[in-house]
Amino acid sequence: MRVAVVGAGPAGIYAAEALATDHNVEVDVFDTLPVPCGLVRYGVAPDHFSIRSVRDKLVETLDHPKVRFFGNVTIGTDISAEELISIYDAVIYTYGASQDRALGIEGEDSDSCFAATEFVKWYTGHPDAQDFSGQLARAQDVVVIGLGNVAVDVTRVLIKPISEMNETDMPEHVLKALRNSTVRRVHVVGRRGPHHATFTTKELKELGELEGVSVNIMASDLPSSDAEASDGNRVVERNLKVVRDWAERDSVDTPKAINFRFYSTPLAYSERDSELVVERMTVLPDGAIQPSGELERIPADLVIRSVGYKGSHLTGVPFDSAKSVIPSVDGKIIGAERSYVAGWIKRGPSGIIGTNKKDAVATVATLMADLSEQPSGAQAPDYVVSLLKDRGIQYVDVSGWKRIDAAERELGSLSGKERTTIHERKTLLSLAKGN
Ligand code: NAP
Repeated sequence: MRVAVVGAGPAGIYAAEALATDHNVEVDVFDTLPVPCGLVRYGVAPDHFSIRSVRDKLVETLDHPKVRFFGNVTIGTDISAEELISIYDAVIYTYGASQDRALGIEGEDSDSCFAATEFVKWYTGHPDAQDFSGQLARAQDVVVIGLGNVAVDVTRVLIKPISEMNETDMPEHVLKALRNSTVRRVHVVGRRGPHHATFTTKELKELGELEGVSVNIMASDLPSSDAEASDGNRVVERNLKVVRDWAERDSVDTPKAINFRFYSTPLAYSERDSELVVERMTVLPDGAIQPSGELERIPADLVIRSVGYKGSHLTGVPFDSAKSVIPSVDGKIIGAERSYVAGWIKRGPSGIIGTNKKDAVATVATLMADLSEQPSGAQAPDYVVSLLKDRGIQYVDVSGWKRIDAAERELGSLSGKERTTIHERKTLLSLAKGN
């Protein structure tokens, strides 16, 4: 049997691993990017070394004799979904949820207001990222909207001392921009309270450990009883302990600060006045939020909205636009023959990297139960190679990826570190070719 996997992020690679290792199936993994690992490379913050090191384990799967990598190939453009299913016995879509969510507020489309997804792409060296060097060289106050782990990552990257970032694999132009950054305060704005936030404690706590950075919380934003507010949820209980400790710290004069503004929903942004207008909110017992009519203005040279990712529609594949996922039952796509789904595009943008392993293995189990007894109708392995060559598509195979990997390690070693990310697609493709 021969299966195509669309997306070389954790879900795709875990699916390929399960197919090749547990079921002896041949797998071709496609990705629109020239390099594998998806959000582990272009999402996980570069200063989170241990989470980022999952990459080394993931890429081992691409060396499996039954697995091939086809980077720089966009399914839906270079090969249509209809063609793909005609070439393979089955297809698993694992292309993630890379789109940002909008707030729908006035001023959101100004040049100083953008999505966290864009900022994360930039600091991780994504080839399609816009450049934030100019903005960081002018801004003093940045508002980050959202109370999730991406908001924490973005806040930390904006305010962490550069001496602690130098060791990361961030591209040199990103490190230079952070070195020249004038950002002094990050205001983290969320529409609910600290006990409703989706931060994980380790990530949250790190914000209070940054040298030269104070963390400010309004004591009135804390619940009257932590036990009642956490309702047995251990993560919430631990998060509340962290923010309560911060609220009780003596105030000190520091060069930089993180100011949390809970119970505040954004209403409008004025780039001209460099301010975000928020309305204080009340959270009702059923979790709904209610406006209080009380307005506040927060200084904001830049606004970064970090209000979640969402999946996008791939032409020829069913899509539930209300939920921004591919509709499925046990990983089998509803309304498409021999087609399956795993990862964020199956269940939405939540969970840790390991969640995708369980998810991918479950989808592969469904696929094997459906198809393992059927005779293979797949095209020979060379078919897709000829198709791509005929169409003039320069795909990156595993040897090409290894050349990129070696070049990144060599570049990093010049500054005494493990690796430096190469961010230009042109350079990545040229390295992959062996130039
Ligand atoms: P998230 O945890 O879902 O947080 C999204 C935040 O946006 C929530 O606070 C949400 O508030 C808020 N929000 C949504 N719509 C809003 C609106 N219209 N106005 C104001 N606020 C709004 O998502 P995420 O931070 O993007 O993270 C995605 C996933 O990646 C999560 O599973 C996360 O844990 C994971 N991740 C993990 C790490 C790590 O482990 N180090 C790092 C990064 C990401 P409401 O609750 O009020 O809707």
